[in-house]
Amino acid sequence: MFESVSLGESGRQPTTGKRRPPPIDSATIGGSSNPPVLETGFKKVLHSIEFQPQTVQKGKLLNETNDVINVKEFGINGTRCRIEARVIRQTSVNSTPYTTNLILDSSRNVTSVSCTCVYNKSGKCKHITAVIYYINNEQSLSKTNFGQQ
Ligand SMILES: [Zn+2]
Repeated sequence: MFESVSLGESGRQPTTGKRRPPPIDSATIGGSSNPPVLETGFKKVLHSIEFQPQTVQKGKLLNETNDVINVKEFGINGTRCRIEARVIRQTSVNSTPYTTNLILDSSRNVTSVSCTCVYNKSGKCKHITAVIYYINNEQSLSKTNFGQQ
């Protein structure tokens, strides 16, 4: 003899998956898929990553050639934020650009980074320096380069 397990509310269908999380895609590094809160006018960021001087210089050059694109800032839990950018590959401009992420705490200190390039094992690739440079020099860049195409 079978007896269905009563949940106290017979007659109501159990609704499974009501709070199903959104599908995970590669753009959700950092655990947030909110729309960007900023795409321009970024506040400067701080970091204590010990980049090689030549890596910093290469990051600056990537800005001078306008290879840092699609820079967007996303909020995480209202206090931290994530900055995501694409960096065009200088060696193969037709390939998919690298995706570089910076995670910032509430004081805009960089707490973690990621990059899809092969050099990112150390977290100190030129793409990360390029995005930091972009953020911290955005206003002067847009002034000096404005109208050049
Ligand atoms: Zn990289």
